[in-house]
Amino acid sequence: MTPETKVLILAVAGLSLCGCWLLFRWFRGPPSTPNPWDDKIEESLHRPDATPLCSRCLEPHQTEARFCPNCGAAVDPLVAFSPYLYIFAFGDMLRAGTARRFRVNWVTILGFLLLPLAFFPLLLAFVYWFVFLRNLQRLSPTGDGDSPRDTGIARSDDS
Ligand SMILES: [Zn+2]
Repeated sequence: MTPETKVLILAVAGLSLCGCWLLFRWFRGPPSTPNPWDDKIEESLHRPDATPLCSRCLEPHQTEARFCPNCGAAVDPLVAFSPYLYIFAFGDMLRAGTARRFRVNWVTILGFLLLPLAFFPLLLAFVYWFVFLRNLQRLSPTGDGDSPRDTGIARSDDS
């Protein structure tokens, strides 16, 4: 074995050990915490007796509830996988495009334009798009805002 081969083997072994160590540190790294609250609030959120809140209206609901009793939003994450209940969750989401405020950006607009095609006949999709575009016009900053339903509706692209 030539000296160059020994140096090459040692270099490859050293780089492999460094790579394994970096991979180990990456797996063991601290979990990312995107939440703005501290550890005390995080711990209280995961207590078994914590009261769940609706993500839309912040109203407390039962732990085993599937829909919010106040606003009707799906609060159980498994509703989307239930063959019967997902229809109601999907209908609630489509209703959000026509009657409620939502985050106005190109992803949500594209979603509200494409999803009706998967569930409605084309003629009903045109009707949905018409009502959706009227709601989108009300949400835009240049909307006329004279409708009674405009109260409290604001553009929510402040993410
Ligand atoms: Zn609610």
